[in-house]
Amino acid sequence: MTQHLANSPESGDIFAGLEAGLDAPTDKGPGNFDAHHPPDKALIDDCVHCGFCLPTCPTYALWGEEMDSPRGRIYLMDMVREGTASLDEPLVRHFDTCLGCMACVTACPSGVQYDKLLESMRPQIERHHERGRGDRTFRELIFALFPYPRRLRVAALGGLFYQRSGLAGVVRRRRLLDRLPPRLRALEALLPPVKVRDLVASPPERVAAVGTPRRRVAVLTGCVQRVFFTGVNAATVRTLAAEGCEVLIPRDQECCGALSMHSGREPEALERARRTIATFEAHDVDAIVVNVAGCGSTMKEYGTLLRDDPEWADRATAFSAKVRDVTEVLAELEPRAPRHPIQARVAYHDACHLGHAQRVRAAPRAVLRTIPGVEVVDLPEAELCCGSAGVYNLLEPEAASDLGQRKAANVRSVHPDAVATANPGCLLQMRRHLDDPGLPLLHPIELVDASIRGEALPTQK
Ligand code: SF4
Ligand code: SF4
Repeated sequence: MTQHLANSPESGDIFAGLEAGLDAPTDKGPGNFDAHHPPDKALIDDCVHCGFCLPTCPTYALWGEEMDSPRGRIYLMDMVREGTASLDEPLVRHFDTCLGCMACVTACPSGVQYDKLLESMRPQIERHHERGRGDRTFRELIFALFPYPRRLRVAALGGLFYQRSGLAGVVRRRRLLDRLPPRLRALEALLPPVKVRDLVASPPERVAAVGTPRRRVAVLTGCVQRVFFTGVNAATVRTLAAEGCEVLIPRDQECCGALSMHSGREPEALERARRTIATFEAHDVDAIVVNVAGCGSTMKEYGTLLRDDPEWADRATAFSAKVRDVTEVLAELEPRAPRHPIQARVAYHDACHLGHAQRVRAAPRAVLRTIPGVEVVDLPEAELCCGSAGVYNLLEPEAASDLGQRKAANVRSVHPDAVATANPGCLLQMRRHLDDPGLPLLHPIELVDASIRGEALPTQK
């Protein structure tokens, strides 16, 4: 199962890993599932069909269709288990449209673990459902690009030329984008302004703690984060150091596998998890710090993901126990670095993979409130996903756009001076739909960093 990624993906063939999601255990399982972790009957039966989750489900909110709700999707899993439905196109669509936002897990009074069910369902789909050629090619291109920072940098150079040469203006003025398929239009619309300094940035491998060290931590730099949001990584390292953490930034780290896992590409995700564990195990640290909600939620699950692998199961559990969102680490530490005031009304958006999946809601708010002058404002319909959801806004652009516009309207309704959220995907999605260069969109750590350094409210970059 590991042969696809035997070589370093950064140095390998550009199509390395393209087929990694397609390994297919062949043992027959219940109904129309195979035997490799089909959705668990006991977890399915935990659902008492009460419907409390329905109003918080973004796809149910958009379309009002039972089969696009958590309850309906659980029912469909049960039907496949019973053999009365198969993994055909109409059924798979109901799972492709699920954002994996886990708002239903937060809402469910019966404790239904939809996260675990979906985590079992998606690999079954990838193993047994034959996607159309266009869909397959687009997905494979995404997974040949996004988890590879070097390839992303090359693509970003193309984006830089597109933005700086005037080509973007010509394309938009002549409405050429209207002729592109929706997925390619979404790709163009989500491209952030590319900065040369981000493309050449190279973080140090170690930053000493300011004052007496209180923690020794290692930081995940992420894939999209490392290429398009180097300022967030720099702010993370500076803030941790200012608060007494010795910070290590392992240079040989690769993609953590979150995007692959969320898309059901299990073998690829597991191999990336193993590599990430091996990289960080080499450093004796108190915590592995993450500033990307989607990565953090997957890394906290490595123990479960690698439970079948005798060589890695215990190592994965030990690794996951150390994973912390950066705001969790800061909230655990009594603030030591003096904060300078920033007078701002900050709308805080809970990234789904931080709020729903990791249940980290208090820490980011508490960390923002350590800044004198900052007023933290919650959003209406805060539980609804912004439509980013990993690569969902590329794969399902229409639904993502509707959700993005709804989130933008909710943000505007609270009249903020800035918006803070702890996930690059949410930042890109909200940038697109707010379309307001005067409204700063920031990771919370950028605000804390600015406050410690005595700077004004950062502007949108
Ligand atoms: S998932 Fe939970 S909230 Fe939703 S219908 Fe089932 S039991 Fe009710
Ligand atoms: S994960 Fe999100 S989109 Fe999917 S069923 Fe649950 S609430 Fe709905």
